[in-house]
Amino acid sequence: MEAMSEFDAIVVGAGPAGTSAAIKMASSGMNVLLVERADPPGTKNVSGGVLWGNDLEKIIPGWEKQAPYERVVESKAVGFLTRDSLINIDFRSRRLAEKATGHIVLRARLDQWLARKAREAGAMVISGVTVERVAVQDGVVKGVEQGGDLITSDVVILAEGANPRVAIDSGLRPPLRDEDVAIGVKEIIKLGEEKINERFNLRGKSGFAGEYVLGFLPEGVKAGGFLYTNKDTVSLGVVVSMKDLRKNGSTYSFDIIEEFAEHPYIAPMIEGGKVEEYSAHLVQEGGIQGVPKLYGNGYMIAGDAAGFSFSNGLVLQGMNYAIASGIAAAETAIEAKSKNNFSEEALAAYRERLMNSFVLRDLLDFRGIQGVTWSDTVHRVIPRVMEGVFEQLFTEDSQPKKHISRIVMDALSRSGMKTSDAIIEGYRMMRRM
Ligand SMILES: Cc1cc2nc3c(=O)[nH]c(=O)nc-3n(C[C@H](O)[C@H](O)[C@H](O)COP(=O)(O)OP(=O)(O)OC[C@H]3O[C@@H](n4cnc5c(N)ncnc54)[C@H](O)[C@@H]3O)c2cc1C
Repeated sequence: MEAMSEFDAIVVGAGPAGTSAAIKMASSGMNVLLVERADPPGTKNVSGGVLWGNDLEKIIPGWEKQAPYERVVESKAVGFLTRDSLINIDFRSRRLAEKATGHIVLRARLDQWLARKAREAGAMVISGVTVERVAVQDGVVKGVEQGGDLITSDVVILAEGANPRVAIDSGLRPPLRDEDVAIGVKEIIKLGEEKINERFNLRGKSGFAGEYVLGFLPEGVKAGGFLYTNKDTVSLGVVVSMKDLRKNGSTYSFDIIEEFAEHPYIAPMIEGGKVEEYSAHLVQEGGIQGVPKLYGNGYMIAGDAAGFSFSNGLVLQGMNYAIASGIAAAETAIEAKSKNNFSEEALAAYRERLMNSFVLRDLLDFRGIQGVTWSDTVHRVIPRVMEGVFEQLFTEDSQPKKHISRIVMDALSRSGMKTSDAIIEGYRMMRRM
């Protein structure tokens, strides 16, 4: 007779994917072990971070009343920066705040709270332990290995984040390619609540989230910047294309965050602030091409480890995909337990669940979006053309005025792009976005 497993499920990684999976399974009575390398959970994690959507409600009813979030997004900006200018679209709406669709969070706090919720639901949570690999016998995952010890379970959920060493070292997914990831660098800057409210025109719990295209970087290097207001600090960071950075060879991600912070239209927002934390982390960027095989005999992969994230230059979302995929993996595990069948065929229901949710639908629908977010058009042409157009429009030089169409054509020609190419490129971008 086969020996019983020590746990029904082992979850590797206590980020939003892993904790969501653990909470869901433990709440349904499963015997769950959640293993996290950081002690306490969250201290190795980096996120902008706006937690978009309301997926936590499915596992923690009324989560918003208890969760340690900083502010709710009421003011959202999307801007293009050139060396001298900022072209900004600023959307402020009380309706955004009422819908509470974006919660600005600090991961160290959120993840510790989620890990506590997993414990309260009945999961065993071990922190400060790094899983080395999964144990595979006859093509079936039987548990995890760490320091020569084997801990057995019927199913393992790998939720280890954007650098999935366990899945790669265990042969469950291919190594990352440069195009699958970007590098995120982030500072937390202390400003004080009053100053933040004054500077960003905010009241109470309302918050500001800004995303910027850094159109002033050296040729070949592309990056986006973000600035989010927490209660009394701001999170400022950049996400840099790994592929470009490696090709360029002489620009470093830490230089780019400096340049972003010192930009004439970013610097005043953080003036007088004190950097309290500095961190760097990989960001999943691969889209559907970067998604590995998601399940097999005795295992499933969730969250960033599975390549689930979405970015269209206007928002960067990963935590909501992590939570939704963690829940989908947990539901599949609960079903598998009820049938005592953790085979690849049984766990195929995980993919079905993801296909019926925004997780895989978005990745499939927005196939190729990276071609827009990391394009020369977005990072070079649009910022320069818009700068040229607005500068002309708002400069009075006592000369006869030009029609806007003429101003746009002149700016396009200065950018080196033909009008016909601009129309085709614009159409392609609209379709992909
Ligand atoms: C700079 C930056 C800005 C971002 N901004 C946003 C944003 O604004 N909004 C948004 O939704 N998303 C954002 N993201 C993406 C978001 O952070 C991720 O999509 C999300 O954290 C994925 O959750 P996860 O649970 O899959 O992985 P993670 O949050 O990375 O959690 C994985 C966990 O596994 C642990 N772990 C790893 N290996 C092991 C091991 N071998 N053994 C034990 N434990 C292990 C890690 O310590 C970690 O706690 C941002 C990311 C970065 C880097």
